[in-house]
Order: sequence, then structure tokens, then C-alpha cells
Amino acid sequence: MSIEVKNITKLYGSQKALDAVSFTIKEGEIVGFLGPNGAGKSTMMKIITGYFDDYEGTVKVCDISATSNRLATQSAIGYLPEHNPLYLEMYVKEYLHFHAAIHKVGKDAIAQIIEKVGLTPEAHKKIHQLSKGYRQRVGIAAALLHHPKVLILDEPTTGLDPNQLLDIRALIKSIGKDKTVLFSTHIMQEVEAVCDRVIIINKGKIVADKKLKELKENQEQQIEVEFDLRVEKQFIERIPNLKTAVNVFDTTWELTFSTTVDMRSAVFDFAHDNGLKTLKLDSKNKSLESLFRELTA
Ligand code: ADP
Ligand code: MG
Repeated sequence: MSIEVKNITKLYGSQKALDAVSFTIKEGEIVGFLGPNGAGKSTMMKIITGYFDDYEGTVKVCDISATSNRLATQSAIGYLPEHNPLYLEMYVKEYLHFHAAIHKVGKDAIAQIIEKVGLTPEAHKKIHQLSKGYRQRVGIAAALLHHPKVLILDEPTTGLDPNQLLDIRALIKSIGKDKTVLFSTHIMQEVEAVCDRVIIINKGKIVADKKLKELKENQEQQIEVEFDLRVEKQFIERIPNLKTAVNVFDTTWELTFSTTVDMRSAVFDFAHDNGLKTLKLDSKNKSLESLFRELTA
């Protein structure tokens, strides 16, 4: 396992920031760590990276115990902290040299990383001259310098404009081809765009840990249909597999089905067989965003 977190409980004073959190991440996975502000994402990441040691439970990174062998696990991890603290007066290359020296990696790694994270056009500048998107690239470059197997990115896209956001997501995806990545975000769409698995945390507890495909499949199917005439609810309830039917407006109904089979043609056929005309028929699958809101309400 790349990351194995077991029963982590962490208190700040009397406040429980993490409550018996457990999960495992396999080598090569890109996992979104999703939760609203204050859920405990940064705290969990700081524990994995060895920033804290006052917690209950155990953490392993690349099968090495972070609790007893912190130096070894830290060399396996590249970490981009929240708010990406950078020395703004430094030149990009100077900053990366500084990081390379800390990790005792050769200078040739720097040129490679600059290329890899797409920093080449800005590499001659001072960090304060860079846009937020390029500053994030500098932070990601610094995290990658020592060739870690595991990358932990704490809200890497927060505060970026829409173009920068797409660029950084694409960068995370491409880095994830040969690394294990855990990145936190409070945006469900981000997880959909970048990963195939999501761990959702709320108030210090894991509330979901699933492949996105599974989440989508478990969603109920919703169909909005408009007939040409008003109908009684008992009549509508004869549609097979129907779970609920709500008369949202005059001749418009919102139907939910607890099946993954596309029910649109069944609804159309039902109307036709009963002498109704179908004026409108829309599949309105509940978004993952609304599922996230339900889980973290
Ligand atoms: P997230 O990253 O999901 O926004 P955090 O891990 O930063 O959440 O915070 C989890 C909870 O712990 C929040 O209620 C936050 O206020 C609290 N917290 C975080 N850091 C500290 C700290 N250094 N001292 C006291 N409370 C903290
Ligand atoms: Mg945070």
C-alpha cells in the first residue's frame, strides 16, 4: 500500500479534528480527498507527512511506519502545503536549488522538473512576478524534486482562475501517471475531472470512500416528463420500477427510479400505450455535487 491510515484520532485541545479515520491508497491511484472547510483534510495530510506526531492511530507510507520512522516516510512523500508558502523574493531556479539542497538531490533534477511541470517560460523570473497558477507549479516542482513515490497536494487549485485551474488539474493528472496522488479539494467537480476515487470527509469522519464509477451507478435515476393531459397519481404509479412520482407542475412529473437501466423509453411507451402524448422527456440524474451536499450537510 502507498498510504495506510488506521484509526486516526487527533485533538486540538478538546476539539476532535479527526475521529477514527481509516483508509488505504494503492500504488498509482489518484484519490480526491473531498470535504467542506474545517472537515479535517489539512490535519490528516499533516499527519501523513509527519508534521504532527500527537495523534492516536497508525500511518504507513509505502509500508513504512510514519509513527516510528518519520524520516524514511518523508523521503517517500512530496508535499504541497495549503496556501503554498513560497519565498517571493527568490528566483524560481534559486528556490528550486534551495529545495534540492535540502533533499540532497543533484542540480540536473531541477531542469527536468522545470520542464515536467511546464515552468520553462517563467523559470527565469522571481516568484513574486508569477501568476498564481505558475506559483502553484513552483510548489509542485519543489514537491517533486526528490522523486517521491507519493504526492500529497493540499487544495492545489484553490484561488486559481478557471484557465489556471484546468492547467493545474491536467498537470496533476499527468503527474499521477507514475505516482500515487492524494489531493484535497472542496469541489466535487474537481474530483470528477481528475480522479477515479474519492474519499469524502465531514467533521473529522469519513462519510464515503468509493470509486466515482460506483457513486454514479448508485445514483437514483430521475426523469422529468411532461404529458399533454393531466393524470392521476395512481395512474402514473403503474409505470414499472417507479420509486416516487411528484407532480411538479400541471402536467409535468418528476419520476425517480431505483434502477440503472435507462427508463426513458419505458416512460414514453407507458404514455403511448395509455393514449397520452409525451411533450417533454428529460433524464435528470442527480449530480455528484448534490450527493456531496447530502453527505456533508
Ligand atoms: P480542512 O483542511 O478540511 O479545512 P483542517 O484540518 O484545517 O480542515 O481543520 C479541521 C478542524 O480543526 C477545524 O475545525 C479547524 O478549525 C481546527 N484546526 C485546524 N488547525 C488547528 C490548530 N492548529 N489549532 C486548533 N484548531 C485547529
Ligand atoms: Mg485545509
